[in-house]
Amino acid sequence: MSVNVSMAAIPAAVSEFIRGPHKLLIDGKWVAAASNKTFSTHNPANGSLLAEIAAAEAADVDLAVNAARRAFDDGPWSRMTPAARAKLIWRLADALETHAEEFAFIETLDNGKPLNDAKIVDLPHSIEVLRYFAGWCTKLNGESISISNPGTWHAYTMREPVGVVGSITPWNAPLMMAVSKIAPALAAGCTVVLKPAEQTPLTTLRLGQLILDVGFPEGVVNILTGFGETAGAAMTAHPGIDKVTFTGSTDVGRIIIRAAANDFKRVTLELGGKTPVIVFPDADIDRAIEGAARSIFSNAGQICNAGSRLYAHRDVFEKLVDGVSRRASEFRVGPGLAASTQMGPVVSQEQLDRISGFIASGQNQGAELRVGGGRIGSEGYFIQPTVLTGTRPDMDVVQQEIFGPVLCAMSYEEADLDRIAREANATSYGLGAVLWTQNLSTAHKMAKKLKAGTVRVNGGGLDPALPFGGFKQSGWGRELGREGIEAYTELKSVAMAL
Ligand code: NDP
Repeated sequence: MSVNVSMAAIPAAVSEFIRGPHKLLIDGKWVAAASNKTFSTHNPANGSLLAEIAAAEAADVDLAVNAARRAFDDGPWSRMTPAARAKLIWRLADALETHAEEFAFIETLDNGKPLNDAKIVDLPHSIEVLRYFAGWCTKLNGESISISNPGTWHAYTMREPVGVVGSITPWNAPLMMAVSKIAPALAAGCTVVLKPAEQTPLTTLRLGQLILDVGFPEGVVNILTGFGETAGAAMTAHPGIDKVTFTGSTDVGRIIIRAAANDFKRVTLELGGKTPVIVFPDADIDRAIEGAARSIFSNAGQICNAGSRLYAHRDVFEKLVDGVSRRASEFRVGPGLAASTQMGPVVSQEQLDRISGFIASGQNQGAELRVGGGRIGSEGYFIQPTVLTGTRPDMDVVQQEIFGPVLCAMSYEEADLDRIAREANATSYGLGAVLWTQNLSTAHKMAKKLKAGTVRVNGGGLDPALPFGGFKQSGWGRELGREGIEAYTELKSVAMAL
C-alpha cells in the first residue's frame, strides 16, 4: 500500500452531513435517543472518529413501532393507492440518483469500500432496486380460483401487506441492504422500522433524510441506529412488529428465529455463505481466473456470496491458483478514497482480527499460504488478499464464513459431477455457487445438483429481478424478484357462494 496516495476531495455536502447531528428518525422527526446515549462510528481506512450517533434502546423501539403501526393502520399510507406509492418510491430513486456522488463518499468513509465500487455497484444497484419495486406496487395481484364445492362460487386470492416490518441490516453493503429491505416492504404497502449495523449507520441516515424530502408520510419509515443486542433484540421481540427481515450472520439469524417464534412473526433471513467456485477443464481459464479473483477480493471479501472455495480440475488447478495468486498480489489495496484503490480496508479491528484468526487456524491445520495472509500497515484495517492451498474439507477455513479476502483452493481428480457436487455441497451453507465451463450439459447438470440459492455460470452480477437467498443455514426465504415482494404480503383467500 502506497503511503503517498492522492485522495479524492470530500465534497462539502458530505462533510456537512457527517458533522451531524445524527438522530433517530421516528414518526417523521429526527429525535435524540430517549436515554440520550450515543455511540461512535469510525473510518476503517484510518480508525479515526467519523461521527457520534444516537443509540436507540427499547423505549425508542416502542415509539418507532407505534409510529409505524399508526401509519400502517390508519395513517395516509394505508389509504394511498398503489400508483401513488409507486410514484413516491420512484421519486426516492430519483433523489438517490441526484445525490449518488454524495452517498458514495459517505459509504466509502463509513464502510471503507473503494469509492469507485460504491459509485459503480452500490449506488446504481440501490437505485435500480427502488425502481424495480416501484414497478411492483401496481402488479401485486391475486388470482381467481376454480373451486369444486357444491353450488356456484366465486373464489379468489388477494395479497395484503404483512404490516409493520422490522428490518435489521449488516455493514458490508449498508445502503444496498437498507434499500433491499425497505423497497419491497414499501411497495407492498408495509411500514418499516429499520436498524442499520452499528459500524455503518451513515448512508441509512442520509437515506432517511431523502425519504422525508420526497414526501413519505410520517411513520412510514423509521430509522433506529443502535446496537443489535439492545435495539435489534427489542425489535425482534416487539409484539407490534409483524415481520422481521434480517441480513447478517447465521448465529444472529438463530437468535432472531427464537425471538420471532413467540408471536409467530414472519421472518426472512439472508445469512452467511461459503460459495464454491467450480472450474472445469474446458473453462475459459483466463476469465475464470479474473472471475474467481473478483469474487473473493471485491469488497475485501465481505460479501455473503463471495466465492471463498475454489475447486479446480487437477489439469487446470496450478494455472488457476497461479493466476488468482498473481491477481491477489496485483490488487491495489488502499484507502477507499484513493483513485487507484481496488480493495479497501475491512470494516473494523474486530473483523481484521477475525480474518487473521482464520488464516492462522488454516495454517495451523496444515494449509499452505500461497500469497498474502498479513495485515498491511498499522493504521486502518487493511489485510492482504490471501490464497490458501492444501486446504481440506474438514478445516474451519473451508467450513466457516470468513467474510474476508481469503480463498481456499482445492483440486479434484476427475470430472465426476456427483462427487464434485457432494464436496461443493458439504458445508452448512447454501447461498451461492459459481461454475466455469463451456459445456452446456455440464452447466445444467451441475446447476441441478448444487444446493445453493443462486448458481452462476461463467460470470456474476446482481439484478433486482433475480431472487436472492439461501438453502440450508444460509437463510429463509428470498429477497428481490417477485418472491422478494411477496414475502412482504399475506395471501388471503375469499370464497363467495353466489
Ligand atoms: P451480525 O450478524 O452480528 O450483525 C448483523 C446485524 O444484526 C447488525 O445490525 C447487528 O447489530 C444486528 N444484531 C446483532 N445481534 C443482534 C440481536 N441479538 N438481535 C437483533 N439484531 C442483532 O454480524 P457481525 O457484525 O457480528 O459480523 C460477524 C460475521 O457475520 C461476519 O464475519 C460474517 O461472517 C457474518 N456476516 C454476514 C453477513 C451477510 O451478508 N450474510 C453480513 C454481516 C456479517 P449491530 O451491528 O449494531 O450490533
